[in-house]
Amino acid sequence: VLVLVAVLLAVSCSRAPRTPSIVLVTLDTTRADYIGAYGAPDDPTPVLDRLAQAGVLFEAAQAQAAVTPVSHASLFTGMNPQQHGLRTLHGDRDQQLPRGVVTLAEQLRDEGYDTAAFVSSFPCSSYFGLDHGFDVFDDHSGFPTRGAIGAGGLVYTGFAQRASSTTTDLALRWLGSRSSSRPYFLWVHYFDPHDPLLLPDEDFLRRTLGLDSETMAVLRDLSRNPAGFAEAHGGNMEDVERYVRLAYEAEVRYVDVQLGRLLSGIRGRADGDRVLLAVAGDHGEGLNDHDWWGHGILYQEQLQVPLVLAGPGLPGGIRVPDRVRLLDLAPTILDVVRARPLDRAVTGVSLVPLILDRAAGHDPEPESLPGPAYADAVALMRYGAPFVPNHNAVKNDQLYSWIEGDLKLIYHRLAPENSQLYDLRSDPGERVNLRSTRPDAYDRLLTSLLATRPLTDYVEMPVPVDSEVADRLRALGYLSSEDEPRP
Ligand SMILES: [Zn+2]
Repeated sequence: VLVLVAVLLAVSCSRAPRTPSIVLVTLDTTRADYIGAYGAPDDPTPVLDRLAQAGVLFEAAQAQAAVTPVSHASLFTGMNPQQHGLRTLHGDRDQQLPRGVVTLAEQLRDEGYDTAAFVSSFPCSSYFGLDHGFDVFDDHSGFPTRGAIGAGGLVYTGFAQRASSTTTDLALRWLGSRSSSRPYFLWVHYFDPHDPLLLPDEDFLRRTLGLDSETMAVLRDLSRNPAGFAEAHGGNMEDVERYVRLAYEAEVRYVDVQLGRLLSGIRGRADGDRVLLAVAGDHGEGLNDHDWWGHGILYQEQLQVPLVLAGPGLPGGIRVPDRVRLLDLAPTILDVVRARPLDRAVTGVSLVPLILDRAAGHDPEPESLPGPAYADAVALMRYGAPFVPNHNAVKNDQLYSWIEGDLKLIYHRLAPENSQLYDLRSDPGERVNLRSTRPDAYDRLLTSLLATRPLTDYVEMPVPVDSEVADRLRALGYLSSEDEPRP
C-alpha cells in the first residue's frame, strides 16, 4: 500500500503544473519588417521565425516610445509613459523610473522567482531605473566607455554598448551557474542594430550576405564614422541608404544567431521545455523612410516591432493580426504563468483571451481586444537625423501619437499645424495626411489622446549649437568625441 501511495504521489507531483521559468529577450532598434516571419526576404532571422512558428506571433505590436529606456519602462510596467514617469533619454530630466512603480521583475520576484538581467547598452542601465526587481543586474559598469552623460544632459550611447555575443556569453554563464530549484526570470537585451558601430566581422558578412571585399570596406567606413559617412561618400543619398540598410540587416542577422545560442542554452537544461519565451523589439528604426535615419519619432517604422511568445500554456503556429501594445506584454506574461496581476490601474491587459480567440479560429470578442495604442516623444533633442540638417521643427517639438482602429494621429504639441492623421489600413506607409480632409476624425482622436493627460511640462531643453553638434554627435546623433576608447 505504501509503495502504491508513493507511486501515486510521484505521478500526481509530476503532473502538477510546475511554475515555468521566463526568458524575455528585447531586440533594440528592430523593425518588424526586417524579420523573416514578418515578410523580410532572404530568410534573415531563421531562429526567431522558428520560435514564431512554435508559438504566437503578433503581426501588429506597437511600442509606446521610440526611445530605449522609455519603451522598456512601458514594457516592464504595463503603463504608458505619462503613467510610469520615465519619459526621456535626457540625462538629467524625467529619466528615472520612480521607485514605487511596480515592474514585471518585482512582481515575479515576489512570486518566488530568481531574477536576472543582462543588458547591452547604457540606456537599459540602472541609471534609468530599469534594474528594479532584479537580484542580478549586469550593468553598464563593464562597458568600454566613460562619461555617458554629456553637456546639457545629452546621453551618448556610442561606446557604452557591447555586442550581443558578449551579453549572450554572460547570460549563459549565469544560467549554467544556477543551482536553485526556483523558477527564474531572465531578461536579455541585445543592442547591435542600434547603430553601425557593432558591425559583424567580415567572415559573417561574406557568409550571410555574400558581400565582396569592396562593399565590406565601405561598411567599415560607415561603422568607423557614421555621421561623417554621407559626406565622405560624396553625398549620394541613395547609395548612403543602401549601405546603412545593409549594415542594419547584417546586425539584425547577427543578433538572430546570438538568440539561437541563447535558446539552445536554455533548452539544453533540465527545465528547458518548461520555459516561457518572449521576444520583443523595443522600437524600430527610420532608415530614411520619412527623412529620418535613427529613431525617436512616431512613424510606424519606428514604433511597429516584432513580438513573439512561445512556451508552456500557449498554442503553437498562431498569428494574431490585431494591434497590441508592448505594455500588454507584462500582464500577458503574468497571466500565462498564473502569477498575481499587476495593479488594476495599469493600462496593459492580458493578451491571453485574444490568443485563445485566434487559436480557436474566430474573430476576437470585443472584450479580448486591447485598447488604443499611445506613444510619445517629449524630448527629441537632435537625435536621429545626422544626415539631415533641417529637422529642427520636429526635433524641437513634442510629439504624441494615438491609434484607434485603423486611424492614427500624430499630434505636434508646439506646432499643431504640423499634426497628421493617417489611415493605417489603406496607407500603412503614412504618406497621405488626412488631417484636412477628415477633420471630424482628427478632432475625435485628439480628444481621446488628450483625455489620457499625456502632456509633460514643456521645458526648453539645452540643445548644443550647431558647431557643437557637428563635433559631438558623431555616431548617428549619439556619439561624443569624449567617448572615444582610450588605448
Ligand atoms: Zn532602443
